[in-house]
Amino acid sequence: MKIPKMLRTFCPKCKTHTEFTVTIHKAGKRQGARKGERDQAIRKKGYGGQKFPMQHNQAKVTKKTTLQLQCKECKHSLMREGVRLKKAEVV
Ligand SMILES: [Zn+2]
Repeated sequence: MKIPKMLRTFCPKCKTHTEFTVTIHKAGKRQGARKGERDQAIRKKGYGGQKFPMQHNQAKVTKKTTLQLQCKECKHSLMREGVRLKKAEVV
């Protein structure tokens, strides 16, 4: 699906409709030294390390695409709820 790179919507900070720039939200890089990652490494250590069943056959074919919007006037950014798409591109 083609998504326009400019969008006019309500800005809660400006309290009016303004122009927003649109980008596709991407998950941040995994940091190996973070608490969750460290805990998981401890859990997985040794014989029989996997503590919960791993999901192998997923029911869904697509992943949700979340849009990241940024107000052109106050630089306030907000996210739009993800929609299931096979392919999303900002044009
Ligand atoms: Zn704004």
